[in-house]
Amino acid sequence: MRNDRRPNQEVAVIGGSAAGMFTACLLARAGLRVRVFEGAGELDPRPRTLIVTRRLQEILGEVGRSALVNEIRRFELFTDGRVATVALRKPDLVIERAKLIRALAEGARKAGADWLDDGANGRRQDRGGRGPNGGRR
Ligand SMILES: Cc1cc2nc3c(=O)[nH]c(=O)nc-3n(C[C@H](O)[C@H](O)[C@H](O)COP(=O)(O)OP(=O)(O)OC[C@H]3O[C@@H](n4cnc5c(N)ncnc54)[C@H](O)[C@@H]3O)c2cc1C
Repeated sequence: MRNDRRPNQEVAVIGGSAAGMFTACLLARAGLRVRVFEGAGELDPRPRTLIVTRRLQEILGEVGRSALVNEIRRFELFTDGRVATVALRKPDLVIERAKLIRALAEGARKAGADWLDDGANGRRQDRGGRGPNGGRR
């Protein structure tokens, strides 16, 4: 990250899912004031498994491990009664998306990012970390 930022520079991240929360966490750790805007009503992602490469764990470390459900070491392809097996040099990962997003959101909150959502009844609500001057809300 470049070091030519102005003090107290505020950054808006649009979308409080995996990419948004990870971005918010990195920016907040770098000392920027970060607000995440999520339009889905609330930060409560539905459970859904994703298949991703091992790179996810290399980047996210423990956060990635906490969402790990299983590993895929080979694929088996079936056609015309024949079977071909493709072994993966590095296993792909089956991860639980809801756990991943919650863990990333917790990391972003600890780093000081705030997030806003529209709430179930359309009211805008503040969640998360530090206020504009660094103190807890
Ligand atoms: C059925 C299905 C299966 C999938 N399986 C895989 C898989 O196995 N492996 C894989 O790598 N990927 C898979 N994907 C893709 C997967 O969803 C993405 O890789 C991952 O969720 C992308 O995360 P993201 O944070 O970039 O975006 P998203 O998870 O899409 O999050 C975007 C967020 O931005 C919010 N948002 C959007 N617009 C606005 C706005 N204007 N204002 C405020 N908030 C806004 C949305 O509400 C949402 O919370 C799958 C997708 C689907 C639909």
